[in-house]
Amino acid sequence: MIYIHVPFCRKKCNYCAFNSKISDAAERNFYVDALIREIHLRGDNSKVETIYFGGGTPTTLTLAQLEKIICAVGKNFSIDKYAEITIEANPGTVDENYLRGLKALGFNRLSLGVQSFDDALLKILGRIHDSRTAIETVKLAKKFFDNVSVDLMYGLPNQMLDNLRRDLAQIKLLAPQHVSIYGLEIEEGTKFFELVRAGKLALPAENICADMYDFITETLPTLGFNRYEISNFSRKNFESRHNRGYWTGKKYFGFGAGAHSFDGKLRTSNARDVATYIENNVPIVEEVVTRKAAMEEFCFLGLRLVEGISAQVFAEKFGVKISDVFGEVIEKNCRLGLLNLDSDKISLTKRGMALGNEVFADFLL
Ligand code: SF4
Repeated sequence: MIYIHVPFCRKKCNYCAFNSKISDAAERNFYVDALIREIHLRGDNSKVETIYFGGGTPTTLTLAQLEKIICAVGKNFSIDKYAEITIEANPGTVDENYLRGLKALGFNRLSLGVQSFDDALLKILGRIHDSRTAIETVKLAKKFFDNVSVDLMYGLPNQMLDNLRRDLAQIKLLAPQHVSIYGLEIEEGTKFFELVRAGKLALPAENICADMYDFITETLPTLGFNRYEISNFSRKNFESRHNRGYWTGKKYFGFGAGAHSFDGKLRTSNARDVATYIENNVPIVEEVVTRKAAMEEFCFLGLRLVEGISAQVFAEKFGVKISDVFGEVIEKNCRLGLLNLDSDKISLTKRGMALGNEVFADFLL
């Protein structure tokens, strides 16, 4: 698995705490050169089944720049011929020629940051696109890709259930293959954080957010999307293979500013600051993943998936029964109606999905 971070956007959205910034052409050139250096430096010819270009907005790069990066990956890794190769894009950053070019480069999955189909909400969020552009971009994307994912947000200022109802009606019409949902979180360093602190931005009450969450998670399955993870829904066989890899503890390379890597034992990270990364793109060791941490992660990452975790796989992996390590936690959360225990499988209940973070916290030893 390879993740490639592109930390550039045309404009910073009002809620965004991701590692992204506005850039000029020279900075993007230097960055692509640095990325290629890093890939050459760290590539080990291992087999790669998924590649994910995330950001930021990876489609701020030219097709020629993306081609250089893909070539570097191809030279330093063995890309499986059935690899899932995803790129994130924002409506308004791609046209027909660009999409055709992406396809020719080997991308076979497009993840579109739509967030909402409501013009007023898109404006509040500070997105660069309006609803019409989002709709046109999804339609265009579907012409070139048979695996298109759409991101939607809920819990937004001024958002009501009716807005979401219209969003999902639009999803039904556009019929992408995959939908990811995100509840708005107010994070430090964002414009929203300042506005909330100054009392100038009102957020929907907690119970309204919970209603929105219930509405989306109950409606998407009626539109043909299976829920396979807390925040992810897809048509049959269109789950994100890359993200599934994270939740099941696979090894991954992360290239680019702020990107993390995991080799099964060590977790490393690159400098987050773009200029620092360009100057010295050698990852630093952040954490040695101890056996204890690996057991915790196996549980709280695996529990994100609807299928949950297998007691047998846990025993094979760690040489100890899951009940000997987490018996009390499992029992308590089953009692609270947050976990299901079904012979080999342990999984979140519907209520547990809504309160996932509380359950995961319990799995920290
Ligand atoms: S497009 Fe995405 S990464 Fe860029 S500023 Fe907006 S939310 Fe952040």
